[in-house]
Amino acid sequence: MSIVVVGSVAFDSIETPSGRVDHALGGAATHFALAASYFTQVRVIGVVGEDFTAANEDVLKKRGVDTSGIEHVAGKSFHWTGSYTRTLNEADTLATELNVFETFTPKIPASYCDSEFLFLANIDPKLQARVRREMPKVKMVCGDTMNYWIKDHSAALAEVLVDLDVLLINDGEAKMLAEDANLVRAAKKILGMGVKTLIVKHGEYGATVFFSERSFPGAKPEAHATPFRAPALPLAEVVDPTGAGDSFAGGFFGYLASKKGELTPGNFRKAMFYGGVMGSFAVEKFGTERTQKLTREEIDARFEQFRALSHLD
Ligand code: AMP
Repeated sequence: MSIVVVGSVAFDSIETPSGRVDHALGGAATHFALAASYFTQVRVIGVVGEDFTAANEDVLKKRGVDTSGIEHVAGKSFHWTGSYTRTLNEADTLATELNVFETFTPKIPASYCDSEFLFLANIDPKLQARVRREMPKVKMVCGDTMNYWIKDHSAALAEVLVDLDVLLINDGEAKMLAEDANLVRAAKKILGMGVKTLIVKHGEYGATVFFSERSFPGAKPEAHATPFRAPALPLAEVVDPTGAGDSFAGGFFGYLASKKGELTPGNFRKAMFYGGVMGSFAVEKFGTERTQKLTREEIDARFEQFRALSHLD
């Protein structure tokens, strides 16, 4: 059950209270692919420049990720510079150098066309819509976006939302998208835009999934009436929050894909926990360092910690 992910493959320069890194491997597609690779086969579509080395690509290949959809072109790779010194909950973007990403036109290798799952990472909604159109056979599509696209590209974004199985966005973005400061009302409005299921991420406080009657085809109405909240793991030190959201998405979607996209309430709930598990690992070290070298045992042990954290006898 393979997932195709389209998004940024990048270098990140990051400053946090724990230190700083310069040009660490990053990008939404990279974080997503590494996290999801512990659950299922992942195939990446992206673009990089001449500064992206074979060693960088090997990080993905070592996890079994198919990189044949990463296009190599002349110029420099996307470079994001961010700081978390003001608050660990939100990055202050200091610079976004699009470089080769500015003219990115996603190309889908023929070998990816039998994939059943698609993740549209945070990129121009016009490109998200295009990839979606070019992969008509996928049976489940999850997507992400950010305030920039919500604010200035709402018409293009609306076209993506209308056809999305799961939208994953953070709290503030959900309220901005719905133009409503109340989360429950905001969720209802977003589900009314066509999104079948909405996941709202609350950073260090976990994530909530809001269902619609289209979340579980054929299920009883009670199945979608109540949202479900999964915790985040309280950690003594968050070294670098970059990529937590994409790692959450990787754990969530990777798990659902490993269950063949069987959309039962139970699978959704477990997927939310696996999302939290992968997000919690991502923030323990800078960049992708922690997510590169996990074991299935570590993932399962942390899943049990999540279960204990919120279990009621
Ligand atoms: P998150 O999971 O939200 O922390 O995503 C962080 C990743 O998104 C970083 O590795 C960045 O390289 C990438 N990123 C930051 N800004 C953008 C952007 N405007 N478009 C695409 N990717 C971005």
